[in-house]
Amino acid sequence: MNTFTLATEKISPDMSQDLLDWTDRISTLAYLVAALLFILALAGLSKQQSASRGNSFGIAGMTIALVATVFKAAVQSANDPENFNDAWVTILLVAVAMLIGAVIGIARARKVEMTGMPELIAMLHCFVGLAAVFIGVNSFIHAEHTTEAGYEKFHLGEVYLGIFIGAVTFTGSIIAFLKLSGRMKGAPLTLPGRNLLNLAIIVISLVGMVFFILTGTEEADNKAVAWTILGVMIVLALALGLHLVAAIGGGDMPVVVSMLNSYSGWAAAAAGFMLANPLLIITGALVGSSGAYLSFIMCKAMNRSFISVILGGFGTEASSGDDDRDYGTHTEITPEETAELLKSAKTVMITPGYGMAVAQAQYPVAELVRRLRDKGVEVTFGIHPVAGRLPGHMNVLLAEAKVPYDIVLEMDEVNDDFADIDVVLVIGANDTVNPIAEEPGSPIAGMPVLKVWDAERVIVFKRSMGAGYAGVQNPLFFNENSDMLLGDAKDSVEKITAAL
Ligand code: NDP
Repeated sequence: MNTFTLATEKISPDMSQDLLDWTDRISTLAYLVAALLFILALAGLSKQQSASRGNSFGIAGMTIALVATVFKAAVQSANDPENFNDAWVTILLVAVAMLIGAVIGIARARKVEMTGMPELIAMLHCFVGLAAVFIGVNSFIHAEHTTEAGYEKFHLGEVYLGIFIGAVTFTGSIIAFLKLSGRMKGAPLTLPGRNLLNLAIIVISLVGMVFFILTGTEEADNKAVAWTILGVMIVLALALGLHLVAAIGGGDMPVVVSMLNSYSGWAAAAAGFMLANPLLIITGALVGSSGAYLSFIMCKAMNRSFISVILGGFGTEASSGDDDRDYGTHTEITPEETAELLKSAKTVMITPGYGMAVAQAQYPVAELVRRLRDKGVEVTFGIHPVAGRLPGHMNVLLAEAKVPYDIVLEMDEVNDDFADIDVVLVIGANDTVNPIAEEPGSPIAGMPVLKVWDAERVIVFKRSMGAGYAGVQNPLFFNENSDMLLGDAKDSVEKITAAL
C-alpha cells in the first residue's frame, strides 16, 4: 500500500460521489464557456479589426477546455482506488505529451513564415485525421468497456465513420502539404474514370459499414470479419484521400486547404462521439461547418462548383498548363521611370500577390503609399480573394504594415473601375491578374481575375518572366500598356520611393 492509496481511503464513498458529481458539473460548465469562446473567436476572426481579439478568445477557450478535461480525468482517477496508480501514470503521460507538443508547436509557430502557413495548416490537418483513426481503432478494441447495451451498434457506426473521415483527411492533407510546399508537382492527376473510382470507393465503404456494424458487436463470436472489413476500409479511405487531392490542380489548392480544414473538423467531431466528449463534438462541428462555409464562399469567388470540390473532381478538365504560344516581346521599365510615371498619375491601384509576401515588401509598399497620398495621388489596393497562399493573406500583410483598411478593397469592389485608373502596380501577383482565365480550357479557366489590363498603364513587379503558381504563362506581361519591372519587389519599391 502506498501514499496514493492511503490518501483515497480517507475519502468516504458519499464524499467521493459528491466530488465526482461536482467535477462533472464544473467541467460541463467549463465546456460550455469554452464552446462560447470558440464561437466568439470565429466571429472575431471574420473581420481584420477584431481578428486579434478573436484569437485571444480562441486561446482562452482552448486553455479552459484543456484544463477542464485534464482536471476531470484526474479527479475520476483519484476516485478509483483499484486503477489508481495506472490512471496517474496515464495522466502523467498526457501531461508530458502536452508539454512536448506545446514546445514543438511554439517553436514551429515562431519560425513559420507567412508564406509557409498553408503547408503548415495542411500538415496539422493530417495529424487531426491520424488522431481520429487511432481514436477509432482504440475505441473499437475497448468497445465493451465504453458502450452501454443497445447503444453498441450506433457506437460501431460512429467508429467506422470517424476512421473513414480521419483516413481521408490524413492522406488528403499529406498530398496538399506536398503540393503546397512544392515537393510534388501542382498539375492535376487525371486517372481515367477517376469520378467512378471515387464513387466506387465510397459505395464499397458504405456497404462495408453495414457489415461492420453487424459483425463487430460483442455477441459476434469472432471479430475477425469486422477487423478485416475495417482494415479494407482504412486502405480504401487512405487511397481516396490521396486521389481526391492529387486530382486537383495547383491553382485550386486554396479551396482544397479549406475543404480539408472542414474534413478535419468532422473527423474531430466523430472522435468526440466516440469518446462521448461534448466539447470535442461542438468544436469539431464548428471547424467542420466554418471550413465548409469558407470553401463555399471561395468556390463562389473562384467560380467553381461546390459539389464537385467535395467530390474532388474539379479543375481536372483543365489542361496541364503547358502553353508554348508566342505572345511577342515584353517591355521593361526602371524604378526611376516608374517614379516619374507615378508623379504624374492621379489614380494608382496596387494589386499585390504572393511575390509581395515572398519579398516582404509590405512595409516599403506602405511607405510608398504614404508618399503618394501626401502628394495628393488617390491610392487604393485591389485584393483578389486567393492572392498569396492563404485566404486573407494580403490583408494580413497590409494590416501588419499599417495600411489604412479603408483603401484596401476587395476584387468585386474594384473590378469595374480599372478603366479609371492611371497606373496599376502589380506587385508579385501573377495568376490573380492573368487574362487567360477568361479562355475556356486554360488551367485557371473560369476563375475571376483582377482586370488590371483595362487601366491606362500596368507595371508588373517580378523577378523573371516565369509563370505563376498554376504554372501558366501570363499574356498580360506582353500587352502594349504593360511594362515589366524585373527584380526583387522590395528593392524595386524602395528604389521608387527613393526616386520620388
Ligand atoms: P502567383 O503565385 O501566381 O505568382 C506570384 C509571383 O510572384 C510569381 O510569378 C513570382 O515571379 C513573383 N515573385 C516571387 N517572389 C518574388 C519577389 N521576391 N519579388 C518579386 N516578385 C516575386 O501569385 P498570385 O498571388 O497572383 O496568385 C496566387 C496563386 O496561388 C493562385 O494560383 C491561387 O489559386 C494559389 N493559391 C492560393 C491560396 C490562397 O488561399 N490564397 C492557397 C494555395 C494556392 P518570379 O518568380 O518571376 O519573381
